[in-house]
Amino acid sequence: MKDFHMLIGGKAMPAANGGTFEVTAPATGAVLAQVPRAGAGDVDCAVRAAVRGFEAWYRLRPAEREAALLRAASLAEAEGQARFLDTLIDESGSTITKARGEIAYTVDLLRTAAGEARRLYGETFPNDDPHRMSLVIREPLGVVGVVSPYNAPLSLLTKMCAFPLAAGNSLVIKPSEETPLTALAFGRLLLDAGVPPEAVSVVTGFGAECGAELINHPDVRCIALTGSTNTGIAVGQAGLTKMRRMQLELGGKSALLVLKDMDPVKAAKIAAQGIFTHSGQICMANSRIAVEREIYQPFIEALKAEAESLYLGDLREERTVYGPLINARAVEKVLEHVRAAVDGGAKILTGGEIYKGLVVKPTVLLDPPRDSLAWREESFGPVTSVVAVDDLQEAIDVANDSEYGLSAAVLTSNLQWGLHAARRIASGAVHIGTHSFQSNALAPIGGVGLSGMGRSGGHYSTEEFTEVKWISVDVGSLPC
Ligand code: NAD
Repeated sequence: MKDFHMLIGGKAMPAANGGTFEVTAPATGAVLAQVPRAGAGDVDCAVRAAVRGFEAWYRLRPAEREAALLRAASLAEAEGQARFLDTLIDESGSTITKARGEIAYTVDLLRTAAGEARRLYGETFPNDDPHRMSLVIREPLGVVGVVSPYNAPLSLLTKMCAFPLAAGNSLVIKPSEETPLTALAFGRLLLDAGVPPEAVSVVTGFGAECGAELINHPDVRCIALTGSTNTGIAVGQAGLTKMRRMQLELGGKSALLVLKDMDPVKAAKIAAQGIFTHSGQICMANSRIAVEREIYQPFIEALKAEAESLYLGDLREERTVYGPLINARAVEKVLEHVRAAVDGGAKILTGGEIYKGLVVKPTVLLDPPRDSLAWREESFGPVTSVVAVDDLQEAIDVANDSEYGLSAAVLTSNLQWGLHAARRIASGAVHIGTHSFQSNALAPIGGVGLSGMGRSGGHYSTEEFTEVKWISVDVGSLPC
């Protein structure tokens, strides 16, 4: 077991009060590290560093910010395995395939964000007064408080950090208490790439403690939170009292619509990927599936076979499909959702129990009550619910039977049906011909309803993490 320090203003620091907490491996229960348990004083120290870091970073030429982010991408590409792979597997229970995927996406995100540093475009607009000229410029916000989740602790953190940095903001990162080691390694990567030491700090600790201190700190101008909807509501309410800019990427209950022209076996393979990747601990996981009645029976048979054939082995084995949930609370929540659905009349097609340790078997429920937790709330585990529908309209109604709206998917090769559904589903994204768990560094990722507000990715992030300012100029007696 190692002792880790926080990264504050480029320095490795313990918590001011000496507090620590343990980080454990979900797969084995082993204690991996002791990390500082930050309090108000540590957060204040990090934010004050970030205020100074903002001046240093924003005053760099855009090409210099671009170069630093490109260096970070190259470092992640060359040294990503050494810097992140074991930590991702041990700390977050990622399979080796998922961990490699996160590293590759991190490289892509850093490269994509680097280009945004030069694209803080403004505009001019016509003025009725011929002696005045109007300009609109885009400026960074200042210190951004980044509060991140545990499920994709590297790639999501990269997405949350790279774009605001490209726009010239400085950062104080508060990672999930489950996965601080990945965040510390990421902070170190940015500093090694030449981001000024005071522009990025990482404080480790708990949401209600240092997370709350960060979002309430008077010098934090913007909160970027990715997490559960309950946290988003609490953070959003606190942020609103101070009129903070907020980007909230929250939970999901994503629907997969399987239309009658699909091969049911192929559809089941796609559905299994859509729900069981990373044990269902994916915000866009397909936790609700609506299947047209014509292919319902062969589809559920194929999904059962698919779920029961998934290999749940050592996380470092290539063929392992998924591993443990993050902690015992997460397992209990999943089992509670399953129990309540069954009490309400759902049938378990497969799974519904622990495989071993924190690993829950791939679980498929049939016809849970529409007011059950399994249907309405995010289980954030390897559980999906399947219902049969009579036609496309009923499938769309099923997709919209949710307060969440992060990502949805339609399996069909009929583009008219697919586009019709995509236009009518209330969701931040709809994917046709695949499942709903999709990422792209340029895409506007974000949700509607309880799935949050704001979009991240490409230039959409630049808009979130900058403020527009109107400047008007008296151009003198000669009209322009
Ligand atoms: P969580 O809400 O428990 O925690 C997220 C972060 O918020 C953590 O760093 C936590 O310490 C912090 N936090 C908690 N309470 C806080 C408070 N009062 N003040 C400040 N910070 C606080 O979420 P989690 O369990 O780590 O992650 C899983 C959730 O994240 C799921 O709901 C998932 O859908 C969601 N998620 C959403 C997206 C997306 O893009 N929309 C992506 C990944 C995960």
